[in-house]
Amino acid sequence: MQKQPKVAVIGGGIAGLTVALNLVQRGAQIALLERESILGGNALTVCCKALEGKCQLCGGCLLADRLAAIKEARDIAVFTNTTVTRVKRVGGGFVLDLAVAWAPDTTLAVDAVILATGFDHVDAHTKGPYGYGILPNVTTGEEVEKRLRQNGRSAYESLGLRKVAFIQCVGSRDEHVGRGYCSQVCCRYAVRLARLFKSWYPEAEVTIFKMDIQTSGRDFDPTWQAAHKEGIRFVAGLPAVIRRSTEAPGRAAFIYDDILAGKLAQEDFDLIILSVGMQPRRDADRVADLFGLNRDPYGFFATNDDETSTLIPGVFVAGSCQAPRSIAESIAHAQKAAEACYVYLQERGS
Ligand SMILES: Cc1cc2nc3c(=O)[nH]c(=O)nc-3n(C[C@H](O)[C@H](O)[C@H](O)COP(=O)(O)OP(=O)(O)OC[C@H]3O[C@@H](n4cnc5c(N)ncnc54)[C@H](O)[C@@H]3O)c2cc1C
Ligand code: SF4
Ligand code: SF4
Repeated sequence: MQKQPKVAVIGGGIAGLTVALNLVQRGAQIALLERESILGGNALTVCCKALEGKCQLCGGCLLADRLAAIKEARDIAVFTNTTVTRVKRVGGGFVLDLAVAWAPDTTLAVDAVILATGFDHVDAHTKGPYGYGILPNVTTGEEVEKRLRQNGRSAYESLGLRKVAFIQCVGSRDEHVGRGYCSQVCCRYAVRLARLFKSWYPEAEVTIFKMDIQTSGRDFDPTWQAAHKEGIRFVAGLPAVIRRSTEAPGRAAFIYDDILAGKLAQEDFDLIILSVGMQPRRDADRVADLFGLNRDPYGFFATNDDETSTLIPGVFVAGSCQAPRSIAESIAHAQKAAEACYVYLQERGS
């Protein structure tokens, strides 16, 4: 590269941090634009799932090193509380108008842009028959991650857990709600959380209700095998409805289609965890319009076949704004996006 190229990275989650660190090492100058007041994105809510100190390789601690490295890095200017309001193509590059709380009317001229705006959690309220927001014993994977991260083992101590259920595919693999895709991460976090609950409450029965289980990932197989050995119960069937138990006050009753038994079954639980998945950001259409991007049929940013470059030269995407990904997968995708951006800048001679 002849002059020091300037790149705007939009989104300061694990993917945006990874892209920024990669490109700065290759000599670029980075403006990292984050709309929240802190960096880290959704990975900030992922809890440690180590079993009595034994790591379950959930990826939750991959964020800390990158946050520290960003603080140390020269040539990465971090703008928090910042969004892009207008984009102009000027020469081969871009001029971005920014809404920055502490510096109105800021503009930024850059040679390339990488979008790393991430995902929103599926809203469990949209799954009405599951009683989320009405039944106190019904919660989501997102809430469990947050509570365990804040309070560790004591988070659910007061409930005296004897029966815990995870319900898979809540809001994913469901064409009726426009999300026919698999969210990829929810089987892995559910099995790891199930093992954690089982280790804390060995007498409790922990059940995962599923269509099937997404077990991809080399590191996941031992976890999956161990879950079976430890007595986690896997049932093929998803609930038709969850309601207040009439037989056991304070519990939630769960009616489901037991596929193997070929009949409707009913069980009561102390805690029901809805394994919510990932969906495109609710404002993804606005961001796509700003940069002239297409979106795929589910609303994630569309790319060329390489999965990182877009139809707009100089605009790349990284991480879970392109498709559902775990933390480790978002890092790998972000490295690929940084590489594609670097090649683009070299070819332009910037
Ligand atoms: C319930 C649940 C549990 C999970 N548990 C695990 C787990 O145990 N292990 C694991 O590996 N993965 C887990 N994941 C997945 C993990 O959260 C993601 O892999 C990871 O957060 C993706 O990182 P990202 O940078 O792509 O997106 P995000 O984390 O969403 O980061 C995007 C960033 O961009 C910012 N942003 C968005 N729009 C704009 C904008 N217009 N302008 C500026 N900034 C913007 C956001 O504020 C955010 O900081 C879980 C997911 C869910 C749903
Ligand atoms: S990878 Fe997950 S389980 Fe292992 S130490 Fe890190 S946060 Fe804990
Ligand atoms: S990862 Fe598992 S729970 Fe999530 S959508 Fe895919 S199959 Fe369903």
